[in-house]
Amino acid sequence: GSTLEIKDLHVAIEGEEILKGVDLTIKGGEFHAVMGPNGTGKSTLASAIMGHPKYEVTQGEILLDGKDVLEMEVDERALAGLFLAMQYPSEISGVTNSDFLRSSINARREEGDEISLMKFIKEMDGTMDTLEMDKNMAQRYLNEGFSGGEKKRNEILQLMMVKPAIAILDEIDSGLDIDALKVVSKGINQMRNESFGCLIITHYQRLLNYITPDKVHVMMQGRVVKSGGPELAQRLEDEGYDWIKQELGIED
Ligand code: ADP
Ligand code: MG
Ligand code: MG
Repeated sequence: GSTLEIKDLHVAIEGEEILKGVDLTIKGGEFHAVMGPNGTGKSTLASAIMGHPKYEVTQGEILLDGKDVLEMEVDERALAGLFLAMQYPSEISGVTNSDFLRSSINARREEGDEISLMKFIKEMDGTMDTLEMDKNMAQRYLNEGFSGGEKKRNEILQLMMVKPAIAILDEIDSGLDIDALKVVSKGINQMRNESFGCLIITHYQRLLNYITPDKVHVMMQGRVVKSGGPELAQRLEDEGYDWIKQELGIED
């Protein structure tokens, strides 16, 4: 499996420092959850890892198997095996979901070793069944007019088809009803294996009832301030974040 190392990461948006020294290491086979109040920099972390141009890394390192991710262009990061399911997936008009998926898969394969159309369709059909998706979603333009829940399922369809080394899922649970949450969780759980590591960003503990993380990290004010096992998520659900703030002497 691969290893993603984030070391002392500082990120600024338009000159304002949002991340103030984040340290995290995710290995193949591991599921990590990052939780935290709104506005603490969780999505900023995801965007910085994927190389969004608005997010300026001012200090620190991101390494994938020792390779400098910060030196890579956005598409190179995807080719290297990183995958981001965004909190707000964008719409791409004129590109069908199916075409997008197939080119994403083939981009990571050697020339001459592209997935055959038959194999691709079979795999896509099977995965859409798992995710209880309507088959005509395949021929619709990417995310165009998709409901919130359809977008989230579609992100997991991409995840399952592309099979990245490390995935970052940003609030994949937001806006999902309980049935959709179960389906999406089932898909993510199916990905569990030694060659896949996952960083699950969530505001709520609810998702972690269905996906058991190996480690839970709490982010506040641009830093990981506490790490623990699944029991940490349960305590946050029961008691909120105030006890951590008190423990650390953080003011609101
Ligand atoms: P979270 O995902 O934990 O809710 P975010 O990473 O979205 O937090 O935001 C962290 C902080 O950075 C917030 O204060 C937010 O207003 C600010 N921020 C995030 N994105 C932008 C942006 N594109 N432009 C300006 N400020 C931003
Ligand atoms: Mg937010
Ligand atoms: Mg966010």
